Amino acid sequence: SKPTTASQTHTTCPYCGVGCGVTVQHAGQQVLPVSGSLSHPANSGRLCVKGSALHETLSHDGRLVFPQLNGKHASWDDALNIIADKIQQVIHTHGPQAVAFYGAGQMLTEDYYVANKLMKGFIGSANIDTNSRLCMASAVVAHKRAFGSDTVPGCYEDLELADLLIFTGSNAAWAHPVLYQRIAAAKQQRPDMKIVVIDPRRTATCDIADLHLAIRPGTDAVLFNALLVYLADSGQLDEDFIARHTNGFDVALEQARNDCQSLQHSADLMDTDAALLLQFFDWFARTPRTVTLFSQGINQSASGSDKGNAIINVHLATGRIGKPGATPFSITGQPNAMGGREVGGLANQLAAHMDFSGSERDRVRRFWNAPKLAERPGLKAVDLFQACARGEIKFLWIMSTNPVVSMPEADAVKAAMAQCELVVVSDCMADTDTTRVAQVLLPAASWGEKNGTVTNSERRISRQRGFLPPPGEARPDWWAICEVAKRLGFAPDFAYQHPADIFDEHARLSAFENNGQRDFDLSGLIGLSRYQYDALKPVQWPVSDQYPHGRARFFDDGRFYTDNQRAQFIPVNAQLPRPRSGGDLLMNTGRVRDHWHTMTRTGKAPRLAQHRSEPYAVFHPADAAARRIHAGQLVHIRNERGTLLLRASLSNEQRRGEMFVPMHWTSLFASNARMGTLINNDRDPHSGQPEFKITAVQASPC
Ligand code: SF4
Repeated sequence: SKPTTASQTHTTCPYCGVGCGVTVQHAGQQVLPVSGSLSHPANSGRLCVKGSALHETLSHDGRLVFPQLNGKHASWDDALNIIADKIQQVIHTHGPQAVAFYGAGQMLTEDYYVANKLMKGFIGSANIDTNSRLCMASAVVAHKRAFGSDTVPGCYEDLELADLLIFTGSNAAWAHPVLYQRIAAAKQQRPDMKIVVIDPRRTATCDIADLHLAIRPGTDAVLFNALLVYLADSGQLDEDFIARHTNGFDVALEQARNDCQSLQHSADLMDTDAALLLQFFDWFARTPRTVTLFSQGINQSASGSDKGNAIINVHLATGRIGKPGATPFSITGQPNAMGGREVGGLANQLAAHMDFSGSERDRVRRFWNAPKLAERPGLKAVDLFQACARGEIKFLWIMSTNPVVSMPEADAVKAAMAQCELVVVSDCMADTDTTRVAQVLLPAASWGEKNGTVTNSERRISRQRGFLPPPGEARPDWWAICEVAKRLGFAPDFAYQHPADIFDEHARLSAFENNGQRDFDLSGLIGLSRYQYDALKPVQWPVSDQYPHGRARFFDDGRFYTDNQRAQFIPVNAQLPRPRSGGDLLMNTGRVRDHWHTMTRTGKAPRLAQHRSEPYAVFHPADAAARRIHAGQLVHIRNERGTLLLRASLSNEQRRGEMFVPMHWTSLFASNARMGTLINNDRDPHSGQPEFKITAVQASPC
């Protein structure tokens, strides 16, 4: 046989929101160990353990390789016809609100775009939500309320330039390792750089911290409100910035004063040491270059939006926004949560950072030539599955995600899906907790096989490039969505031949009647040839005449996207969390270092199981002793919603009365380890993001 020459592909890691560039050497089907792309600005050659094991996750074991109808092999044509017929019948009988899609921050922007266009522009419902609802929906609300737009103001370089970096609700050492490595390297170069970690647990991120505030879970808004009061009382406000560029400061400060009667009172609410709190406040007051990085510990909360705004308030009050090394910075969990936000992947957005106002609906309707533009926001994730349970959603199409594991009340979600008349799941894996409940399975192309773009947490668009053929009959999601659209009678509007065609339309929509009024603008990327699209280098949006090479920072000009171009302070009533009854321990959840989501990919690499090989629960030794739980013993964690079976681990890094459970394990890897079964449906009233960090449970030895 002919020798195959090796070639090289530059692509993007499919895991976290850091969005590292990955270089893959491959010859035919043989893929050599991957390396970090030296030229990618996010990682400059670095990869974490997960990213560096990507080549070990490419086997076809367990892949879904052909469409299935009720467990039997079907042709694509039959499966697509059944889907289209059912959608038509449901719309005819029950109306478009009885149709729903549920997607994921794993989808590429092009997949996301066509799914959103089909649902919101042509089916006529906005019932398309995604697992990004579980990830950063609260940050979106906080941004929009404060800035008038869902804009991440800063960039990764700011995290290195900061003289004070605050991690709050983030174990970046495990969840965003390469970004953490960049910050650790910056601190090593500049030992005077201060790091503060605000987290009930002492996590690996604390290894580089000068100060760890192990506050009571859920009291973050108390802390940032108290900081606002401290800044005002100590004369550390940027009065000029407040006067020229903001609204609502006095009301926000008055609300903060109501909540924070004294430093000691605030410290007591947070169950922390007042002297440590004062130390943090003093550092913040004295350090112009301050970045506050926030993630799921803030967002996954019944008051996550307010927590985000409490953080943004202290940055606005000190004018620390849009400047090198000075910004609030939300980091997303998933590789393309940001891309989803750009195309309107959330049920309460339209597309290209437009919402459901009359003028924006009209603009999107005209651009799409949409026959039935959705009139109002659709159902957010929890509401969507509750509507399934009530029998209101008759048709449900789930793409690239596993809600029977990841959603709150996961068992109820499974039961709710059974109430639909037809459930379709597009996935690369044949057997997941969610595929088991579906009637139609569509085989999806996976990482390394599909082509498109993703946007990381600093607004940087990067290409994901395929270098392997999909196995069997697997196809990209955008293709399957467009084939259904054609069968619904919308062929001319979904006649894309290539992801580049979709990206071009996405860019055109971002620029359509924009005139600088919207932050998201890809006018500089309109009309790319397929070659140019394939060769697209990582770039931070916007890309326009004014910013042909992208823009690192927003708001450096003091101009926001509100009606009067001023940022808005949001008064935050820092309510203390009130977990539902269910036990005497508070359960926190999160990622482990070497696994990703429900382990469909990372579960294939044996070395990624070495760090944590089985599902576990971490207890404070005193809590364990009180329950006769020993390290290494199997334990039951339960409340009225379910019971988990986990291995006990003891650690003084856990506060007393609290425990931690990882989020990854599914029925395929362990019985009774789906943490979502214990989580209740409490959620933020503005963002709809569920509370994953505070769940009352009981624990006992098996
Ligand atoms: Fe992938 Fe995130 Fe690791 Fe980078 S830090 S290699 S994006 S998992």
